[in-house]
Amino acid sequence: MMTYYVLIGAIALVSWFVSNKLKSKFKYYSKVHLSNGMSGAEIAEKMLADHGIRDVKVVSTAGMLTDHYNPKNKTVNLSEGVYSQRNAASAAVAAHECGHAVQHAQAYEWLSLRSKLVPVVSITSGMSTWIVFGGLMLGAAAGVGFGYYVAIAGLVMMGFATLFSFITLPVEYDASNRALKWLKAKSIVTQEEYAGSEDSLKWAARTYLVAAIGSLATLVYWGLQVFGGRD
Ligand SMILES: [Zn+2]
Repeated sequence: MMTYYVLIGAIALVSWFVSNKLKSKFKYYSKVHLSNGMSGAEIAEKMLADHGIRDVKVVSTAGMLTDHYNPKNKTVNLSEGVYSQRNAASAAVAAHECGHAVQHAQAYEWLSLRSKLVPVVSITSGMSTWIVFGGLMLGAAAGVGFGYYVAIAGLVMMGFATLFSFITLPVEYDASNRALKWLKAKSIVTQEEYAGSEDSLKWAARTYLVAAIGSLATLVYWGLQVFGGRD
């Protein structure tokens, strides 16, 4: 159990480090101004057009690092800064979100699978920990009876969330690859600006990787509680 707490502590530390690094990288590459002078919104519009996508809207959304693609209403949502600014970081994010729109248009299988899991995970993820905990309170540790089954039901719910966080990985890496490939092919950015865009996206992807590992560690922890990893 001790090893486990060290592991969880290490994951929390890495997670904190990666998200801070991401913020500072974005801040840094926000100063690398694009020589073609295009804003994130203009880059997004162009990437969609280049892929023959005409039914997706590019809109501005409040906040920072709130950028996302919404498959339900087919909108590329760019945070205010990314939408209006003209630098290596905003180019990277705008193109990445369009990468998701391209995945959607081409029915990329990992994205389809992820979308199917969204309704399940949105219901189960908030309560799974409480259900496992409740099951343990009801005496799951004895390995028999009602509490045991409640705890296992909670673990299954938690398992969906972990599965979801791992399915997110190919979706995110693929969107970044599509973005970088397009930025390079269409010479939207110079070589130096490209390096900045690439580095920004690399750190963004790492936050998803750390989140997935953290989710798996949490699942293992509660699994050990239920299946008798007590000491
Ligand atoms: Zn993404």
